[in-house]
Amino acid sequence: MPEGPEIRQAADEIAKALVDRPVTEVFFAFDRLKPFAEELVGQTVTAIRTRGKAMVICFEKPLYIYSHNQLYGRWYVRKLHSYPTTNRQLRMAIHTAKQSALLYSASEIQVLNEQELAVHPFLSRVEMDVLDQAVTIEQVAARFLDKRFFRRQLPILLLDQHFLGGLGNYLRSEILFVARVYPALRPVDCTIEQIDSLAQAVLSVTLQSYKTKGITNDLQIVDRLKKLGYPRSQYRHHVFNREGKECFVCGTAIIKEILAGRRLYYCPTCQAR
Ligand SMILES: [Zn+2]
Repeated sequence: MPEGPEIRQAADEIAKALVDRPVTEVFFAFDRLKPFAEELVGQTVTAIRTRGKAMVICFEKPLYIYSHNQLYGRWYVRKLHSYPTTNRQLRMAIHTAKQSALLYSASEIQVLNEQELAVHPFLSRVEMDVLDQAVTIEQVAARFLDKRFFRRQLPILLLDQHFLGGLGNYLRSEILFVARVYPALRPVDCTIEQIDSLAQAVLSVTLQSYKTKGITNDLQIVDRLKKLGYPRSQYRHHVFNREGKECFVCGTAIIKEILAGRRLYYCPTCQAR
């Protein structure tokens, strides 16, 4: 499932293709959206915004296309009318004179006006977006200590988009490792130093993943492993997807557990209880 950094990378790519360019053609697969297609043609895209794992394409009108990729949605930006070979179903296409932005498989697509956007249930639920550059470590730390959240187990909390928008399963394991926190704790069980480390890791791990297209491991370790010829899958993460492999820091075998219904990886030494 794409997480915040992947959605933001897709948004950057779509922005390069669409922003400040008049739209020449729009396709919607869903009948309920088809009436909007004509209304959007000739409009200029002014911005591509992301909020957690949701994306909002802003048109001058003002009209907004909200989309959420859920598990299977996938964006492609291609030369005009050049469609990828895929078994996925095309759900939306936005074309300009030279390029096409194509959304496959996603089922959550809505066209909204300004008022509808302002009260959109998912967008209003995401109060803090981890890729929002205005968000500070202090603000994230305060959120961990907020009464609404501080008695909930960290692995559950870190997947809750209401707590922090944009985090998902690989980021959850990686943040807990970088902060050196035992996964089953609740914020209320943590020392203030651990809360600070968690807040710092939330922002730094997510930002690094965005900048490096998904690499959350220590970049010096990554460099070393690359030179030794390791494939990306083996140097990409500290602990995620590395069950039984040696921790890069201490050599202990990484443990995999199922928490909140999703797999979680940690180092029992670096993240001792
Ligand atoms: Zn370790």
